[in-house]
Amino acid sequence: MRYCTNCCLPDTKPGITLDDRGWCNGCRTSLIKKEVDWDARWRDLESIVDQIKAKNNPFYDCIVPVSGGKDGWYQANVMAKEFGLKVLCVTLAPHLPTTEGINNINAMIKDLNVDHLKITLKNSVIKNLRRKCFLELGEPNWAEHCCMFAGVVQSSLIYDVPLIVWGEDISFEFGGIQSKESKPSAIEIDQGDLIKSRSVLDFLGDDVLERDVFFYQYPEYEKLKKAGIQSIYLGHFHKWDGRAHYNFVKERGFKGREAGPLSGNYINYDNIDEKLCEINIWLKYIKFGFWRPTDQTCYDIWNDRLTRNEAVDIINKLQNEFPKENFQDFLNFHSLAEEEFWSTVEKFRNKNVWEQIDGQWKIKTELVKL
Ligand SMILES: [Zn+2]
Repeated sequence: MRYCTNCCLPDTKPGITLDDRGWCNGCRTSLIKKEVDWDARWRDLESIVDQIKAKNNPFYDCIVPVSGGKDGWYQANVMAKEFGLKVLCVTLAPHLPTTEGINNINAMIKDLNVDHLKITLKNSVIKNLRRKCFLELGEPNWAEHCCMFAGVVQSSLIYDVPLIVWGEDISFEFGGIQSKESKPSAIEIDQGDLIKSRSVLDFLGDDVLERDVFFYQYPEYEKLKKAGIQSIYLGHFHKWDGRAHYNFVKERGFKGREAGPLSGNYINYDNIDEKLCEINIWLKYIKFGFWRPTDQTCYDIWNDRLTRNEAVDIINKLQNEFPKENFQDFLNFHSLAEEEFWSTVEKFRNKNVWEQIDGQWKIKTELVKL
């Protein structure tokens, strides 16, 4: 395990390669972003919008996926307010929403004055899929990630909407498997870091039938092409900065977590709309030796808001915190006994990254200041 010498990402993250300087993909992306002609990229977006407007779509011009978080709100604002498109916001409804999440999404819909479609998945199916994904992959949110993308794209076919506007390409923005260059088209979003090559059909059984997983299955590219659906990343056309988006939507009614950052977090507005995702993120710590505090502080290093040494202190202080806030909800939702949870966690612990000293698990390679 080696850490980037410019930020703190470890090379255990899938897709990360450190170059001769010891810099990671995320740091290389931050340099690329500084050199892009963003005005030219914005003009490219304007011409896409002009094409969409010229179609005189009967109902909606564009779909924006939203969770109630800062980025979706920002994206929908650009498309609805700045470009004046008729926007349909689409949400994959969380099964255990937080009060902040419900309030933020209501405030967003009011602020933007748009229609909002909520996809709520059958409880028994999502529960069974999540349970299987946790026990077999150590990644409880895997099937939901499929649905986050596929459900939105299926909606564009159902409602005949010609444009889908996603946020950032996470593998480019955060350094991941397909991160070499920014691409405008998101049509292959189902091949991205969160989904990879598995199929939801691998998890079918007596409790989950093929007809239960419509919203989990990405349509064939040919079908999308025939329907004339364009799928784009706004992050290709506009210099993406999650914190700037937070500051923008905060003025319009978005509220961070009132009780302060969740355990292991250093900001109070990351994934605060639901209660089941945080354990999924924490499992990265077991598998790869990093999680929220590294993600959040590296983002601020890339955007010149934090030095590496400051980030090292924050990460070393926070990374051993366990996401205790919604742990009981997590166990209850998946009908898991606490023992079963911990034995599953141990099954996925990466022994190349972790070692046991005096009965305590420790990361072998300590993150230190340079
Ligand atoms: Zn880096």
